[in-house]
Amino acid sequence: MKCCYCKRRFSLKSQNRYLSAEPTSISNAFNGGGTMYDSFDCPHCGCQHRIAQRYSKVEENPQIDTEEDCE
Ligand SMILES: [Zn+2]
Repeated sequence: MKCCYCKRRFSLKSQNRYLSAEPTSISNAFNGGGTMYDSFDCPHCGCQHRIAQRYSKVEENPQIDTEEDCE
């Protein structure tokens, strides 16, 4: 892709991808929640590029953790 800040091209490699979160409330800013994005940094200027929004995976049968092992 082409960096919209420095106008240089770079390739998106899966090993350079990381998840970023945009806090949507004050509590998100502290506990790390919020809107999640697949992100890459430009290797030339270091600017962050958000590629796609990601949603949390939802378990179909959520386990209520009353049987947690605490050995
Ligand atoms: Zn750049």
